[in-house]
Amino acid sequence: MKPFPWLLFLLACPLRAAEPDWPVIEKRAVEFLQEYVRVKSINPPADTSAAAELFRTELEKNGFAPKIFHTGPNGQTNLLVRLEGRDRTKKPLLLMNHFDVVPVDAKAWPVDPFAAVIRDGYLWGRGAMDMKSTGVIHLFSLIALKQTGVVPERDILMLCTSDEESFGPYGVRAMIRDHWKEIEAEYVLDEGGFGSPDQFSPGRTVFGISVGEKQVLWLRLRAKGTAAHGSQPIPDNANMILLDAIGKALNTPDRGKPNEAVERMREKLGGRLAGNKFMAAIQRNTISLTTLSAGVGSPPRANVIPSTSEATLDCRLLPGVNAAEFVSEMKARINDPRVAIEQLSDPADPGVSRMDTPLFAALRAAILKYHPEALVTPILIPYGTDSVELRKKGVIAYGLAPMVVDASIVATMHSDAERIPVSEFQTGLKIFHELLKSKF
Ligand SMILES: [Zn+2]
Repeated sequence: MKPFPWLLFLLACPLRAAEPDWPVIEKRAVEFLQEYVRVKSINPPADTSAAAELFRTELEKNGFAPKIFHTGPNGQTNLLVRLEGRDRTKKPLLLMNHFDVVPVDAKAWPVDPFAAVIRDGYLWGRGAMDMKSTGVIHLFSLIALKQTGVVPERDILMLCTSDEESFGPYGVRAMIRDHWKEIEAEYVLDEGGFGSPDQFSPGRTVFGISVGEKQVLWLRLRAKGTAAHGSQPIPDNANMILLDAIGKALNTPDRGKPNEAVERMREKLGGRLAGNKFMAAIQRNTISLTTLSAGVGSPPRANVIPSTSEATLDCRLLPGVNAAEFVSEMKARINDPRVAIEQLSDPADPGVSRMDTPLFAALRAAILKYHPEALVTPILIPYGTDSVELRKKGVIAYGLAPMVVDASIVATMHSDAERIPVSEFQTGLKIFHELLKSKF
């Protein structure tokens, strides 16, 4: 017996899942981002309980069952949610974002940093770029999948962490330590890269997907001399000893080896690399002199030579560089028993994530659907993210805010004019939705 035509139509329906109602979802996502920016999840103290509550409510409204983890003494709170996929033999994709934001100098802002004002197409506020917009893109790309009834290829998890801005003791590290089974994934998508018309290559839209990050090595130099009257200069002046040591430290020759990710990027961009501090930093080891402190009395006296003087150096090493060797080379170069070098951070080097994966290909395809003119390339990032902890566990981690932003907007991260273009945020949402429903 021939089936009725309408039956055929019904049978065909599940194969062609409906597109999300984009105008409605985009509108709600922008509203939600505004509500989220208004939540002052500043680190310190990284009290992220209100941010977690906001996410929980939106998820539950949409039929999800999120889990909340109170992990720290100051309200540090993480959230985890799962959307089940078809193939349970595949390890999940983990979307990871952080709830916390860095503090603000409100007087320096042209707008209230927690009002989430939209002006001339930009949404302003602390966290707009780093990384509340991407967190909301994660959230609403999941919601869009659920609303259209699309079952993804594999489980998709979303983890929102509490304290990325302070190395994640109660966030990513607590979750890995105490809840590994629940978050174990094959891939993680986090912050790191982004799209830009000028940041990576002049006059070309490039999406840089981060596949690795530099190692964070903080050092304190402490010089010891003799206290004396400023009226009579002495060679044993701690400040002079320190200045000399800093000069030598900054001139430590760069032993950075060409990095696989950077080489791949150079090749992709045909050698046309933009000249800016970001691009410079990802191609070599760097040292920034970040603090100087010396003097006797408060305020310090101008006529007293202090017996000690201190400085900190923020060194960022390329993957593959041995931090201990870097430090001993610097010590040898300073070569002064009056200068002590103390290591303040514990650099991790889990290397660079593989780039030849189905997820990387799917991400590229999703980007090209909305930005057909763009070039997609792996990059290294100069700053640290939560991803380093997942790479240590063997997870393949990529970082991307799926938005095209000018270098001048990227530079507003952590600054007093942080903002994102609203239209790019909306397109980013579609890019991630496209990715989540694709096969990888
Ligand atoms: Zn961040």
